[in-house]
Amino acid sequence: MPFEFQGKHVTVAGLGVSGVPAAKVLHGLGARVTVVNDGADDRARAQAAELEALGITVRLGDGDTLPDGTELIVTAPGWKPTKPLFTAAGEAGVPVWGDVELAWRLRRPDSAPWLAVTGTNGKTTTVQMLASILKAAGLRTAAVGNIGVSLLDAVTGDEEYDVLAVELSSYQLHWAPSLRAHSAAVLNLAPDHLDWHGSMEAYAADKGRIYEGNRVACVYNVADKATEDLVREADVEEGCRAIGFTLGTPAPGQLGVVEGILVDRAFVEDRQKNAQELAEVSDVNPPAPHNIANALAAAALARAFGVPAAAVRDGLRAFTPDAHRIAHVADVDGVAYVDDSKATNTHATEASLAAYESIVWIAGGLAKGATFDELVAGAAKRLRGAVLIGADRALIREALARHAPEVPVVDLDRTDTGAMLQAVQEAQRLAGPGDTVLLAPACASMDMFTNYNKRGDAFAQAVRELGA
Ligand code: ADP
Repeated sequence: MPFEFQGKHVTVAGLGVSGVPAAKVLHGLGARVTVVNDGADDRARAQAAELEALGITVRLGDGDTLPDGTELIVTAPGWKPTKPLFTAAGEAGVPVWGDVELAWRLRRPDSAPWLAVTGTNGKTTTVQMLASILKAAGLRTAAVGNIGVSLLDAVTGDEEYDVLAVELSSYQLHWAPSLRAHSAAVLNLAPDHLDWHGSMEAYAADKGRIYEGNRVACVYNVADKATEDLVREADVEEGCRAIGFTLGTPAPGQLGVVEGILVDRAFVEDRQKNAQELAEVSDVNPPAPHNIANALAAAALARAFGVPAAAVRDGLRAFTPDAHRIAHVADVDGVAYVDDSKATNTHATEASLAAYESIVWIAGGLAKGATFDELVAGAAKRLRGAVLIGADRALIREALARHAPEVPVVDLDRTDTGAMLQAVQEAQRLAGPGDTVLLAPACASMDMFTNYNKRGDAFAQAVRELGA
């Protein structure tokens, strides 16, 4: 049922990247819009002034009180479900939508289907690979959602699409009750954002919403049983298939790898006997194991949409990863320097460390409540040395002492931005020819840098100074 916005009193919770455009669109549809926002800093005041000029009411400094007469809340995805605003909405029977739900409701009836991706790690990479494959097949598409173009722009703009490659975060899924994708993938599930969701079960349940109502395929990770469990629990359309991806030999109904070839045993005639070659492992950039898994997930979604095998290969070849994701910076004296600054949690770092044989590891920053024992124990054999920086480095140092006591560790005892240069110099001292110096911090960057991009830039700059 189309939702009638004309004359409705809609409260938009949160200014910012999703709130400002949402308020404008709703206002344009004839809703009476009030924006509430916790902060009242200069940026918020400037955004408020812009909206007020259009006739939208903005309340700065009070994001907790439900405005009288509210009939619908459209919230920024990051707002915690436990906020008093939502408690009040629950008591008053007011529905709450996130930015994705709003986009879903506003899409035109004949608009492009969504191929959706979530997971703890690898979402952006997989969605970009998927968009690249869809483009190689000649389809009009874009990577949208938690990345690049906003979903709201994609569904309300003039540009015509055949299909959308949509990245969804667990927050967005939490607030998107009626979303129904053509097909969707959950790449992996590891503890993350548990303070927001309240528990691992709640986090998994929110991720699992991506499968609700899928029409063609629910794509899961054979190596991560939790993702398969979510498929089993989902209420999907009649005939929708569960499709696994694996780094091993695929069973019928799966995509996997056989002797260096990515193969499809799901979207082929007579899948008991047949398999379709899609691409070579070397077509995946970079060909690290977790990235091959991302490529298989992207391929599964594309194949579910009917894309031919050759387009999977061409799309993977054309794909280049975003910066700071296992980016090879330089070789200096036979040592490779790799920037995976985006590895901000232990799950991502585990994948990164698994991709190299002999590593001098640069790690540390803000741990966000993580523990490092499992990570260090799993990687101990491949560590040639470790250099620790940042606020919570003691946690990693202690895990190294427990599980990798022979590995030489340099604890820099620094949290200033300039520490990266020294960290890289120390790593160079520990490394020998054939080794990889890997920045994969397993921590957030904000104790030392504005964000992970700046941390990766500082690493790359330091490596360039080594080579100079
Ligand atoms: P997201 O959008 O989910 O944050 P990205 O593609 O930006 O994912 O990658 C984030 C980090 O996770 C990178 O450091 C990358 O090395 C790591 N990563 C990417 N894919 C995977 C995967 N399938 N499993 C584990 N870690 C991964």
